[in-house]
Amino acid sequence: MSHRLLIDGRLVDGAQTLDVIDPTRATVFARSPRANATQAEQAIAAAKRALKGWAALGYEGRRPFIERMADAMAANRDRIAETLTRERGGPIADCRVEVERATAAIRHFAGQKLEDRVLRQTDQELIVEQRYPQGVVVAILPWNRPMTLLAFKFGPALITGNTLIIKPAPSTPLSTLILGELAAEIFPPGVVQTLVDANDLGPLLTSHPDVAHVSFTGSTPTGKKVLGAAAGTLKRFTLELGGNDAAIVLDDADPEWAAERIFASAMINAGQVCYAAKRVYAPRRLFDAVAGALAKHAAAAVLGDGLDPATTMGPLQNRMQYEKVLEFIASARADGGTFLTGGEPTGQGYFIRPAIVTGLPDNARLVREEQFGPVLPVQIYEDLDDAIAQANDTDYGLGGTIWTSDVRRGIAIAGRIETGTIWVNQHMSLPFDVPFGGAKQSGIGLQNGIEGLEDMTQLRVLNARLSV
Ligand code: NAD
Repeated sequence: MSHRLLIDGRLVDGAQTLDVIDPTRATVFARSPRANATQAEQAIAAAKRALKGWAALGYEGRRPFIERMADAMAANRDRIAETLTRERGGPIADCRVEVERATAAIRHFAGQKLEDRVLRQTDQELIVEQRYPQGVVVAILPWNRPMTLLAFKFGPALITGNTLIIKPAPSTPLSTLILGELAAEIFPPGVVQTLVDANDLGPLLTSHPDVAHVSFTGSTPTGKKVLGAAAGTLKRFTLELGGNDAAIVLDDADPEWAAERIFASAMINAGQVCYAAKRVYAPRRLFDAVAGALAKHAAAAVLGDGLDPATTMGPLQNRMQYEKVLEFIASARADGGTFLTGGEPTGQGYFIRPAIVTGLPDNARLVREEQFGPVLPVQIYEDLDDAIAQANDTDYGLGGTIWTSDVRRGIAIAGRIETGTIWVNQHMSLPFDVPFGGAKQSGIGLQNGIEGLEDMTQLRVLNARLSV
């Protein structure tokens, strides 16, 4: 099936093309259109032209368009999920859930109206907080969760009256292009557009004077480039960046119970989730039981083609990430780590058997940096203060988890963790009405919740003296 870009209301070929690789087989399986700078300029100009009409529709006028988009995604769930399985890799069931979550998020945001807020109303004066659209929003996405991460930008940007240009990661463009094809039938020209690049259009999009807001999800190093590029025109921006989240097992936890949950959320999508657990801290007394149980789950993982229902874990999404994770494995071996299980490349594609690694010094690369793959270090802690200090001793601050049989104690300890989100006795819960964002170098700004909608708007304070 051939795919096209959506620019100014028309589905068009790219100026060039791009090979799309199936990570399960490490072979080219499709070709994507690739936009050049002229097409990016056309998209920005069209988005700018569309602004006035889209904003003028008001909340009630925009809502049905966004709901129709959610309907169209629901009707195309299987097609999008199968495309995701091919381009992203991973179990089809997980891809279906991703499409369903993205659809539900877009539907949720369609129902969110930002009301004016009266700050003061007396006989003398009226002071009101009002919100209006910022303008052209550019959404730049990574390859690990192309649909849900897009939905968290799509709904809030559009319902608040902005127009949107979507740029997926070059290695997972097709699911986004399908969304563009659906949007072409629904939205007025210029309101939603899709541009695929080969990692080369970012600087143009993020520095362009006609782009008002860059909503970026990706790595911290690229996020810093976005921040630099946005400075020239003082653009608004949202940066959702990397993490190195700690899972802390308290000494009162059931090790089997905790390990099962930590494994599930550390290894989902082969560890390629920004807020996955990326290092585990267990007390000495429970250490062998926790590490052993994690290794048991890792050894039981079934790697393979996501279309095979028996598969529980897919490949790394692209060659670069695969090689990066293999480097982490080599560094962990060099740092004296013991692999309880896994760590071997396997299969035709970018597969690595999930690994549980113990015995690393606290300053090992695998402990200090974001591996973004199925290789999990488990560290011993002697006292809890030390574990909390270790968890906080990082430039990242996205999320983290605490596992305990005494939830009150867990909640008290959560208050000492310096991250944007801290979960106790659960993980991966990300309700659409709850803000999500990173502390420290894990990001700036928020997505989801009312805060995520407000992030897409400009605040205007109306301040009127009522008596003359
Ligand atoms: P990446 O930073 O390499 O790429 C992200 C996007 O940025 C891609 O679309 C890429 O084409 C684009 N890009 C590249 N150069 C650019 C430039 N100079 N200007 C603007 N855009 C540019 O990230 P990735 O490897 O695709 O994704 C993995 C990273 O994303 C991990 O660090 C992960 O933790 C992070 N992530 C964060 C969240 C979150 O919500 N905080 C969610 C998912 C992933």
